[in-house]
Amino acid sequence: MSTKHIFITGGVISGLGKGLIASSLGMLLKSWGQKVSMQKFDPYLNIDPGTMNPLQHGEVFVTDDGGETDLDLGNYERFINESLPRLASATTGQVYTNVLNKERRGEFLGDTVQVIPHIVDEIKFRMRAQENNEITPDVIITEIGGTVGDIESQPFLEAARQIRQDVGRDNVFFVHVSLVPLIRVSGELKTKPTQHSVMALRSLGITPNALVLRSEIPVTAATKAKIALFCDVEEPAIVNSVDRPSIYDVPFMLREAKLDEYIIRFLGLEKQYQDIKDNDIYQKWLKLIENIHNPEGSVEIALVGKYIELHDSYLSVSEALKSAGFNHKLDVKIRWVDAETCESPAGAQQSLRGVDGVLVPGGFGARGVDGKIGALKWARENKVPTLGICLGLQSMVIEYARNVLGIQNASSTEFDPNTPEPVIATIDEQVDLLKDRKMGGTMRLGSYDAQLKEGSLAAELYQDISNNGQISERHRHRYEVNNAYIERLENAGLSISGTSLGKSKKNTGDVLLKLNQNSNDNQDLVDQSAVGLVEFVELDRSVHPYYIATQAHPEFKSRTVLPHPLFSGLIAAAKEFQEKKA
Ligand code: GLN
Repeated sequence: MSTKHIFITGGVISGLGKGLIASSLGMLLKSWGQKVSMQKFDPYLNIDPGTMNPLQHGEVFVTDDGGETDLDLGNYERFINESLPRLASATTGQVYTNVLNKERRGEFLGDTVQVIPHIVDEIKFRMRAQENNEITPDVIITEIGGTVGDIESQPFLEAARQIRQDVGRDNVFFVHVSLVPLIRVSGELKTKPTQHSVMALRSLGITPNALVLRSEIPVTAATKAKIALFCDVEEPAIVNSVDRPSIYDVPFMLREAKLDEYIIRFLGLEKQYQDIKDNDIYQKWLKLIENIHNPEGSVEIALVGKYIELHDSYLSVSEALKSAGFNHKLDVKIRWVDAETCESPAGAQQSLRGVDGVLVPGGFGARGVDGKIGALKWARENKVPTLGICLGLQSMVIEYARNVLGIQNASSTEFDPNTPEPVIATIDEQVDLLKDRKMGGTMRLGSYDAQLKEGSLAAELYQDISNNGQISERHRHRYEVNNAYIERLENAGLSISGTSLGKSKKNTGDVLLKLNQNSNDNQDLVDQSAVGLVEFVELDRSVHPYYIATQAHPEFKSRTVLPHPLFSGLIAAAKEFQEKKA
């Protein structure tokens, strides 16, 4: 059977949770036994969000194969429990770059290059590229960024329309997510904005097959009937998504409305189960939602960062914390701590007092680092459970070097290029030590394998998902622990509990190259040999209950129903810490 396509569009305003509707549908179809892949097409001109400010765009998500993508991919992966390729994230910038490169190479044989057909053809190629994944998906769900009516997203909509033409009407399903606003004074829900956005969509040749109506209060049957009539959508395919207490309720809302089964029927997909509950991942979801609605307690975790004004900058981290909490029937309260307030011991004490755990996430640049170091010193000395991620590991090492080893001016060459004590440095800067190594680009991106040390906290935490202590995690950083300091750090008690085995197999990074010789967004290919670099550091449990950090970004592999062991470990330790305090 050929791959089916579901397109998700948005109407009236942005921020309606299209991504969440898309992810929830993906989760349901997968629970019915379908092979599901997902993707996001973004209308902006940046090639990828890798260089965008997290405060503007939220976090940069990283795929196994080293793609730097929009944060929506993280939501997809967490909900459908699949690792997506970098191919799953496309931007207008990538599309134009490819077309313009082809033009320069003369591939259009003298044609005038235009939005139609050339840009649209390139978009179609990208929209269908995942059909050629290693495992051919039964369904590809494509979220089209922006709002119908925007100039920018028109070529994407045209491409989707043409795909319906190309693969046949029965193989493509359009879901339009729209808003039905409430006029408070009259208590009335208004359908006109939705009618207009469907009109705009129909003027582009697309009549949606289903509507998801966001509203503050329930849409009445009469209103639904009116929308069905004017928008030319069957009533059973109109779902009202009334604001819910948690995002994890959304799949169940769609399920109640039977949108999953409607789509399965329409696309002629085959259910693998009599009942969706026969699927054990769906079972896990049911248990999760039960835990979410009935927590037995809560823990407070300080997230010490520098982009805390926009919580989306740490979306995968906060989601990983929450998932770990749900699994323990605990509600995780995140205390958003501005790193800069923790620079002095008094400041750290004031900002962190009372928390049950500390998480120091990744980051770039010098601002906030002294605060992260201050927070880590506080957590180490007060024996508060702590997890460090990427820059968090680097800060942990600097803190230990300064305050335990007594190397007062220990630093990273990222913040102080001429530091006399570069405990953190790039591979190139460690060239004397690592001279046999083939030097490549600058960033360590995507999945790398690591070997964990037997008997370590890391090895214990990972035991269920490791293979003889071998694991794989995603990376996004330039700097590394300087191997010249390892002996001193270990002698002073900071143990190196995991080291790199190099790039993971799935980190091919060149899927696009293979599919499309014209893509040049792989210039930044990383070194193949990160072997022997520090991946984990930790303190012995006789010294501290939970003090561990990783150079990787484990948050990218945490899934809603399968929380990551480093986060689960932190939450369990935080709960114990809280109980001891009481
Ligand atoms: N800035 C640090 C580096 O490039 C850490 C990056 C991160 O935390 N993702 O190595």
